[in-house]
Amino acid sequence: MRGARSVVALTGAGISVPSGIPDFRSPGTGLWEKVDPSEVAHIDAFRRDPVRFWAFYAQRFASLGEKQPNAAHRALVAMERHGVLDAVITQNVDMLHRKAGTRELIEVHGSIAGCTCPRCRAGVPVEEVRERLRVAHDGVPRCELCAAALKPDVVLFGEMLPAAELERARELCEGAEALLCIGSSLEVHPVAGLPALTHRGGGRVAIITRGPTPLDGVADVRLDGDVVAELQALSAGLGLA
Ligand code: ZN
Repeated sequence: MRGARSVVALTGAGISVPSGIPDFRSPGTGLWEKVDPSEVAHIDAFRRDPVRFWAFYAQRFASLGEKQPNAAHRALVAMERHGVLDAVITQNVDMLHRKAGTRELIEVHGSIAGCTCPRCRAGVPVEEVRERLRVAHDGVPRCELCAAALKPDVVLFGEMLPAAELERARELCEGAEALLCIGSSLEVHPVAGLPALTHRGGGRVAIITRGPTPLDGVADVRLDGDVVAELQALSAGLGLA
């Protein structure tokens, strides 16, 4: 990282676990325990039955909205401020990198920062969504202009990733001399294909996450410890902490 011209971080659910946001791929945790997210948080479910969709998603907005970034998010902010990290690409929709202060941030799965009307494309910020949820008689926040049910600005199951964000993520990974994959099981495509771009371009890939990933064999560095402890140690090693 000290010698690299470009260093990029790619983060997944594991970086938010110390903030109290369970990874829904770990069984038996929280909100996702009773429902199948690939069914209830699916674009078809939203279109078919917005009342049921929002009965579930309103809880997600409420619970994620209260969460705060942890020392791992802050370590990445310190690296960016000191010029040793160029950008953070995240699969997370929880806004914790934003709250921590990361400037160059690519949210490839969108975020809970707001909603958009699928009919007239009007955008509604999260505070306003909460207010509309509070007063909605059927629990569905609606567009003020056309009354359509608002859709969260997150990539739902069955939806494509936003093309511009994905393209920017690919560019960053292709050009990275070092890619830090943090708290991601690297199983969900197309994000899981990003480390290969760095590897092919001659860059080094570090994987910092609990549990195995399909890319462990090609990683130049593999750290399996607690994500906060590992990033604090990395910060210290770079002389930032
Ligand atoms: Zn509308």
